[in-house]
Amino acid sequence: MNVQPKQVKPRVESGERPTLTFQQKRRGKPPRHLADLDREQRRALVADMGLPAFRADQVSRHYFDHRTAAPAQMTDLPQGQREEIVSQLLPPLVKKVSEQYADGGRTLKVLWKLFDDAVVESVLMGYPDRATLCLSSQAGCGMACPFCATGQAGLTRNLSTAEIVEQLRLNMALAESGALGESVKVTNVVFMGMGEPMANYPAVRAALHRMIDPSPEGFGMAARHVTVSTVGLVPAILKLAEEGLQVTLAVSLHAPDDGLRDDLIPINSRYKVGELLDAARHYFVRTGRRVSIEYALIKDMNDHQWRAELLAAELNARGRGWAHVNPIPLNPTPGSIWTASTDRATRTFVQTLIDAGISTTIRDTRGSDIDGACGQLAAEVVDRDNVARRAKQAQEAVEARLAEHRAEPVDLADQLAVMEQGRK
Ligand code: SAH
Repeated sequence: MNVQPKQVKPRVESGERPTLTFQQKRRGKPPRHLADLDREQRRALVADMGLPAFRADQVSRHYFDHRTAAPAQMTDLPQGQREEIVSQLLPPLVKKVSEQYADGGRTLKVLWKLFDDAVVESVLMGYPDRATLCLSSQAGCGMACPFCATGQAGLTRNLSTAEIVEQLRLNMALAESGALGESVKVTNVVFMGMGEPMANYPAVRAALHRMIDPSPEGFGMAARHVTVSTVGLVPAILKLAEEGLQVTLAVSLHAPDDGLRDDLIPINSRYKVGELLDAARHYFVRTGRRVSIEYALIKDMNDHQWRAELLAAELNARGRGWAHVNPIPLNPTPGSIWTASTDRATRTFVQTLIDAGISTTIRDTRGSDIDGACGQLAAEVVDRDNVARRAKQAQEAVEARLAEHRAEPVDLADQLAVMEQGRK
């Protein structure tokens, strides 16, 4: 059946506007996998297969503790049943198609193919004694941000829980077997690859459990080392705040004013900056986890000093010490007419935030030369020219309204004064 994806248009309709997509075209489901299930469901499944329930825990330990899906290594399973058990519980879901190294071998981007030939990318970043994995939650993305290559390519489909978890398991195995030089453990995970994790909430929530819950439920990673990054789907942020998970929330803000953010992050037409920051603050209150505010610095677009002042005021108006700002120089995508801010503008922006009492650190950009940096993942894209053209068009439409966006609001001083008064 061919189901049209639901299209949600931002409210302002002047000029070339990007189109938001929330629903994927209907596709078959990936095969069921152990990592889709919690421990009780796995035990029930194994019992249905006519086996003792503890076999589920044995396979889970191989998978989560030893990062393996190879029957030959599961010597505690009866030899004659190993193949059958593994084929039922651990069907292969993602297959490595290609890999690319950058940063002198410290960054590894892998292209994975899924059961239906959809593809996603992950990026493994090595540090002296550990590694961070940037993984994908969707094939493509429906959020249509004009500066992001994935966003220009559109949404193919949501990943299943196990497809997300398999990216982690396979990258853990790669890191531990010395793919980045020394054998290192993947200690940190960021949902900053392809996709909007909060638009695939149930699968991402379950994947978080597999990451955090101790073996044999999951990998037993430290929750605070797992970061979920979102364009700002407010209802999902509020839901995540109630899950009792201590994961870190990152909000891709990129502009402190609705005028510009409506253009840079189309979902802002639904959830405005104020509402989004309220939700982020609520997340901090409920979890005690400081929220990261992501801010891609785009030359002469969102990098003005007055915007740093406004951002600081918006954050300070909601309390002290609850947010940390992470500016990142824009990684230009194919067709981009925008570039990264100058060093000087970057320094001024950062210093303005710091002077206003906001903790701020510039984010390390890894893998930009292999299109492996933030916003550059576009695995799905067969027709790069087309995507580059779309990016350019979307950006030009924003440029056309730029005068409006660039100028400091005439009432900036009043706005700042009101926020100063409203400080908590
Ligand atoms: N959809 C989620 C997660 C994926 S993107 C989100 O938007 O948060 C991860 C981060 O990379 C986000 O902060 C995103 O805004 C940022 N990003 C996207 N394109 C970028 C680019 N071209 N340069 C720098 N950062 C970019």
